[in-house]
Amino acid sequence: MKKRARPEVSEEKDRLMQFDLFDEDVAEILSVDSYADFKKGLLASNCTRCPLHEGRTNLVPDRGNPKTDLVLIGEGPGANEDEAGKAFVGRAGQLLDKIFASIDIDTNQDCLIINVVKCRPPGNRAPTKEEAKTCSVFFEKQLELVQPKIVGLLGATALRHIDPRRKKSFSMAEEAGSFFRLPRWPEIEFMVLYHPAALLYDGKLKARMWEHIQLLAVRLGLGEANLEGRKRVQPSW
Ligand code: SF4
Repeated sequence: MKKRARPEVSEEKDRLMQFDLFDEDVAEILSVDSYADFKKGLLASNCTRCPLHEGRTNLVPDRGNPKTDLVLIGEGPGANEDEAGKAFVGRAGQLLDKIFASIDIDTNQDCLIINVVKCRPPGNRAPTKEEAKTCSVFFEKQLELVQPKIVGLLGATALRHIDPRRKKSFSMAEEAGSFFRLPRWPEIEFMVLYHPAALLYDGKLKARMWEHIQLLAVRLGLGEANLEGRKRVQPSW
């Protein structure tokens, strides 16, 4: 068997130094205690922790208001988001806005929308386990700073990467609309929701999304009474 050449001592030292400096950068981004500082630090970092940085135009931290009880987590930025540097601004994002407007939630004012990864995966593929794990320090910090009451997980990718118990395959038809808690964030209630892109492909899912979004409204304390009339009429989004 061919022996691997040992790196020169200076090469190895350089590699370790780069790693240390790199982690110091991340530690600095994560050391802040205000959301504005976190976002500023992340954008300024020009993060290269995972290969997704290679294809991005803009790093996409979020969209909306960090002073909120509701955070929505999607998969990763698409082409429109990469271009704009804002989460959920394409067709799926526009549908998401309409869905939440139907329970009187303005997605720019009343919630914060983030993604599992902050840079666009090529060809809009799902992020790999390694990419999601590497970027997870950032969404974890976002949850720590925002301290939401409810986190809506938009689609299977968000659910898979946030709940470590979902390693095996699962069915969104069974999971969507369910609530759960995680030991890691005991104060947060997580709700599984369809990704709006799924509704663009399969319009039949809209009726179920309407049921789920009404449940979410009640959980947020928006009041059942306010929703009485809407329970019978599905909006035309
Ligand atoms: S996806 Fe996350 S970890 Fe990867 S380069 Fe972008 S910000 Fe960094």
